[in-house]
Amino acid sequence: MRSSLLVVLLLAACSSAPAPAPTELVLRNATIYTGDSLQPSATAVAVQDGKIVYVGPDSGVSAFIGEGTEVIDLAGRYVYPGFVDAHAHFTGIGQRELVLNLEGTSTKDAFLAKVEEAVAKAQPGEWVTGRGWIETFWSPPIFPTRHDLDRIAPNNPVILTRADGHALIANSAALKLAGVTGASLAPPGGAVNLDPDGEPTGMLIDAAQGMVRQLVPPPSEAQLERALELASDREVRLGWTQVQDAHGSWAEVARMRKLIGEGRIKVRLIKTISGPGDAADSLIAHGPFAPEFEDHLTIRTVKLVMDGALGSRGAALLTPYSDDPTNIGLITTDTAAVSGMLQRALRAGVQVEIHAIGDRGNRLSLDLFEAAFNAVPAAERKVAEPRWRIEHAQIIEPSDLPRFKTLGLIASMQPSHAIGDLFFVPRRIGLGRTAGAYAWHSMLAMGVPVAGGSDAPVERGEPMIEFYAAVARKSLDGKDGPGWHPEEKVTREQALKMFTIYPAFAAFEEDRAGSIVLGKRGDFTVLDKDIMTIPEAEILKTTNVMTVVGGKVVYKQ
Ligand SMILES: [Zn+2]
Repeated sequence: MRSSLLVVLLLAACSSAPAPAPTELVLRNATIYTGDSLQPSATAVAVQDGKIVYVGPDSGVSAFIGEGTEVIDLAGRYVYPGFVDAHAHFTGIGQRELVLNLEGTSTKDAFLAKVEEAVAKAQPGEWVTGRGWIETFWSPPIFPTRHDLDRIAPNNPVILTRADGHALIANSAALKLAGVTGASLAPPGGAVNLDPDGEPTGMLIDAAQGMVRQLVPPPSEAQLERALELASDREVRLGWTQVQDAHGSWAEVARMRKLIGEGRIKVRLIKTISGPGDAADSLIAHGPFAPEFEDHLTIRTVKLVMDGALGSRGAALLTPYSDDPTNIGLITTDTAAVSGMLQRALRAGVQVEIHAIGDRGNRLSLDLFEAAFNAVPAAERKVAEPRWRIEHAQIIEPSDLPRFKTLGLIASMQPSHAIGDLFFVPRRIGLGRTAGAYAWHSMLAMGVPVAGGSDAPVERGEPMIEFYAAVARKSLDGKDGPGWHPEEKVTREQALKMFTIYPAFAAFEEDRAGSIVLGKRGDFTVLDKDIMTIPEAEILKTTNVMTVVGGKVVYKQ
């Protein structure tokens, strides 16, 4: 009797403190920033079934190592919670890899030389398309014209999309095929720019881009799949573990499901469906989808676009552009028509995000969200706290800033936009309106989560550029100027949150992602430098050496 009692007691003792089972992945000898205030640092982490099962000192991790464990000694390198790009265009990133990439052309001549090279390779009459040019840094900083392109491409239709995606330049051959003349009427929300003689300059703004773009033969399904694969490879190489994709269609969702299933997309995706329209309505009718492929794909959000962008003067302002006194920008959404849709989204638990750049675009978006929240009280909502998002939130009339907090919104902001735009924005909107512009610090100080993103391919889409821009608020070569508002820069700790826990919150994932804590997903970004302490300029020289998604090493230098 006594001995059997002893056995029972021993069994009880064993079962209350079982030896940990060996795990799939152990990282050790690292400098780990957990993002968790209770245990801010560690040197080792273990992951099993995609989740963190140990975080602490090296001495405690040995018990998690067995025969099948992949053990990586990081030799002191720096581990952060997996970086998230909270606003990017995933298909666009891939297509930029596939077509003529005009990023980084710093003069008009360099831009034209690249185009000329592509035209030389094309068959006669074949379309030449490209993306990524930006005239801001050219001297003089003026838009290219169709005449510039005609000189190098007399026989091929050419369209080249500005980096921000809100304008394109077409040559005469392309305009002719589309029947665009000085007398053409632009569709609502678009403009055909004319020269003093009343002839098209070749610049088509916002919705007017469709007049020629519709003629370009669509990419094949195989090219689209290749684009997504290239995008995934690029993102994990740079250290992103999740991309929150800021527009989309069901055709893209189907393609993503296929490629994730085949293991060809490794980065996690939060996919939005563009609205208003049938595609968005069908998401609202279905309600949010449960996360698929172990959190690799989540669909719960409708994306709307309220206005254009500042570069092409499409952002909607409360008073005219300072450098174009007849222009107050473009509203691209019929606000009366979408208000019913917003209420249905709220009832169905579907998240809504809206692109708003100008102060009028932002105010109208705030008004629209507020009206929906008032019309559908919390008790009638499937998700009481809807966490709706304003994408960009660039120019805000200061009295509108507190409304982000009172409405419980997420500000989804891209630090690189500020350090690119602020070279021309003070001229475009006047110095006065730069107060309340790109106001990351003010938002955070009010308690508004700021989900950090890159807006790639509008910007380059690199985590170190975004992190640097957030903490330095200076150009990549360390410059700033009047209207840059250095008080809106953020601390390193805040910047880290902007690319980890706040995007997780924005995606309703803060219980399982965004910091290195027991039970959360094993998503890590491993860098060769300590971005929490090194001098600002060093951040730009920091390299991603390893990306881990769900305990799997998806990129290693
Ligand atoms: Zn965008």
